[in-house]
Amino acid sequence: MPDSPDCRPAASSFATTQVQAGYTAGAVSHTAIPPIYQSNAFEFTSLTQARELFALQREGDIYSRAANPTVAVFEQRVAALEGGIAAAGVASGQAAVALALLALAGRGGHIVAAAQLYGGTVDLLTDTFPDWGIETTLVDQDDPQAWRDAVRPSTRAFFAESIANPIAQVLDVRTVADLAHAAGVPLVIDNTVATPYLQRPGEHGADITVHSATKFLGGHGTSLGGAVVDLGTFDFTAEPEKWPQLTQSYARVPGKSLVERFGESGSPYISLVKTKYSHDLGPSLSAFNAFQLLQGMESLDLRMSRHSASAQRVAEHLATLPAVAAVHHPGLDGNRWNALSAAYLPRGNASVFSFDLVSRGDAEADFAAVEAFIARLRVLRLVANIGDARSLVAHPASMTHSHMTPQQLADAGISWTTVRLSIGLEDADDLVADLDQALTAA
Ligand SMILES: *Cc1c(COP(=O)(O)O)cnc(C)c1O
Repeated sequence: MPDSPDCRPAASSFATTQVQAGYTAGAVSHTAIPPIYQSNAFEFTSLTQARELFALQREGDIYSRAANPTVAVFEQRVAALEGGIAAAGVASGQAAVALALLALAGRGGHIVAAAQLYGGTVDLLTDTFPDWGIETTLVDQDDPQAWRDAVRPSTRAFFAESIANPIAQVLDVRTVADLAHAAGVPLVIDNTVATPYLQRPGEHGADITVHSATKFLGGHGTSLGGAVVDLGTFDFTAEPEKWPQLTQSYARVPGKSLVERFGESGSPYISLVKTKYSHDLGPSLSAFNAFQLLQGMESLDLRMSRHSASAQRVAEHLATLPAVAAVHHPGLDGNRWNALSAAYLPRGNASVFSFDLVSRGDAEADFAAVEAFIARLRVLRLVANIGDARSLVAHPASMTHSHMTPQQLADAGISWTTVRLSIGLEDADDLVADLDQALTAA
């Protein structure tokens, strides 16, 4: 039995009882499942303890914007799955990308990033970050020379996705990691689409990963969340003058730098993400969402194998249909990223990929054909999301990538006939049959 704390309130009036009875901070109930600590703040045992916590001299919870015990379980689990040393749980994937990069390049630094990135990230890098003096050069991720040429003295990060979408390009992580390290900066990988089940970027030289846990980690389309993971491989002390935010004394850790305080036992980088950026900007993960994401993660391997196998089957089938002009799935022979997929994704490819319908010749006719095809689908659903248990379909040119210029669309390999799929957990036979009837009617 757990300790039985004294649950009587210090006064017995109704109003005091209704607020305080039945619960004492610090009671341990030995719940088998991580409970939802739906509490904004945490009670201190003494003012001295409070002072030490505020000075980051000891570990503990103060206020849920900075740390929460349910969120901490999520952070430790994501870090463990990635083989990392620490993680920060945040409100969304978008927040994870923003905070991960601000902590590296927030002082007017420069970022080299893949042009193939998720649209929300491109908006962040090309619209919002420049407002704050942070510049980004977008490069073709498959062109090593482009990464090398983009480096400036102010470069502070390389950034790419392990698997991009909608075209499902597989990144040569090792090559880009070597180029980042030659430039003296960490490689940050958005590992949302692969998840650590299909790939651990740290095994191929990446230093930091970020996730939209909203997608496959949570896996059920119910809860936004994100994570920044420090894989513990980048040495910020090798060129300390480049990283003053970590190596110079920091007012929030009186008398010390974050490296001095957390270098031995923890992650100076994640401490910066949390104590400065999460704390000041406020994109905190809620305990409730952390609980939902944790539940999703318990079946990550089972789900990812099913997602992956069903997507492979659907892709192979689509490739046989006359209404389909091309299938962009790296598990297919002849796909440009087939060899990289074999090297980096031995357990299977992601279930997010796309295909092109045969073009009618002009954008309006193509749009009408895609609209008619999507309207005929009965099992796959028209939703702007990926990584759900449900199979989802989207039309990048009119939805997720609609603000791109024709040239940007062409560079991204997207046409008006390109259809994105995120294959879910339904019976693969039903998915194949649904696509078949919707495509053969065309
Ligand atoms: C969805 C997504 C994001 C943004 O995540 P949110 O949780 O929607 O904020 C970032 N990167 C990738 C690859 C994504 O798919």
